[in-house]
Amino acid sequence: MLGPVILAASRSDKMRRFVSAAPGTKQVVGRFIAGETVEQVVPIVRDTTARGLEVTLDVVGEDITTREQAFAARDAYLELIDHLKSLDLGTRAEMSVKLSMFGQALEGGHELALANVRPVVEAAAAIGTTVTLDAEDHTTLDSMFAIHEELRKDFPQTGCVIQAYLFRTEEDARRLAAGGSRVRIVKGAYKEPASVAYQDKAEIDKAYVRILKILMEGDGYPMIGSHDPRLIAITQELARRAGRKLDEYEFQMLYGIRSDEHVRLAAEGHRMRVYTAYGTDWYGYFMRRLAEKPANLLFFVRSMITKN
Ligand SMILES: Cc1cc2nc3c(=O)[nH]c(=O)nc-3n(C[C@H](O)[C@H](O)[C@H](O)COP(=O)(O)OP(=O)(O)OC[C@H]3O[C@@H](n4cnc5c(N)ncnc54)[C@H](O)[C@@H]3O)c2cc1C
Repeated sequence: MLGPVILAASRSDKMRRFVSAAPGTKQVVGRFIAGETVEQVVPIVRDTTARGLEVTLDVVGEDITTREQAFAARDAYLELIDHLKSLDLGTRAEMSVKLSMFGQALEGGHELALANVRPVVEAAAAIGTTVTLDAEDHTTLDSMFAIHEELRKDFPQTGCVIQAYLFRTEEDARRLAAGGSRVRIVKGAYKEPASVAYQDKAEIDKAYVRILKILMEGDGYPMIGSHDPRLIAITQELARRAGRKLDEYEFQMLYGIRSDEHVRLAAEGHRMRVYTAYGTDWYGYFMRRLAEKPANLLFFVRSMITKN
């Protein structure tokens, strides 16, 4: 019940101001956000990769309202790539981007987002790595898939995300798997209406497994974005049945969530990539993490009370 309420709050400016100013917020946010600046995140990248894990880096931010903010988002990623250059990690450190942060919702937004993300993908390729386009709410996806297809003409390693809770996703998965794409499959983190998405957790899990099968049997590179132990076990079994070797798919989990599992899967020889978010505009990202696990909200409220 709490999840949808928190997701609705994630779009409220009033709540954003309240949560951002609340005592104790920083401490709880720090569990999910690796730092505020590129200088803070680089040592974390170095440490994570030294432990045999891989990373995908997300400069937090979304739903921007001016073109200047969109250009600033592009520049933040270019600055990050500049810092990654000297680490020489290749695909062990890739980037995740949200097109709404690159101007997708502004006037002429589709072209603007494409124009802004292209130099980031080019710069990533120049240091031997790549970019994955995150999936946001369902109204943005046709544009995201079109941008993905356009970028793949020059940079075929560009990845994208699909969400198991959407009815449309099995069809998207078939197209992407046949096209040999890198695809991250996740359950889905936004508040979506019953007209486009499964609302029931068990239905979402079943859809996830159907999509996993499509990806595993296809020609692409599946990236399994989930902390769900059942889905991880099913992935291993489906990969085995599809005859995929350990380096022909990867697991991905979020920074700060089930960190022991990151290490366990990597020790078993799996590719394990940690989605590492950093930056100052963390509100939307943070609220989705609270919505996924209401116990996080209790922890947050408790930390506010003890700080008072
Ligand atoms: C690498 C990665 C990238 C993602 N990218 C996107 C994207 O582009 N678009 C999108 O819509 N969604 C994205 N998501 C979020 C995703 O849609 C889910 O909301 C999120 O992963 C929770 O689902 P789950 O599969 O972990 O299963 P759940 O059933 O939600 O969780 C399984 C278990 O994991 C743990 N867990 C899960 N979430 C949390 C949390 N927030 N705090 C503490 N413990 C938790 C709990 O132990 C829980 O019981 C991404 C997730 C990952 C891992």
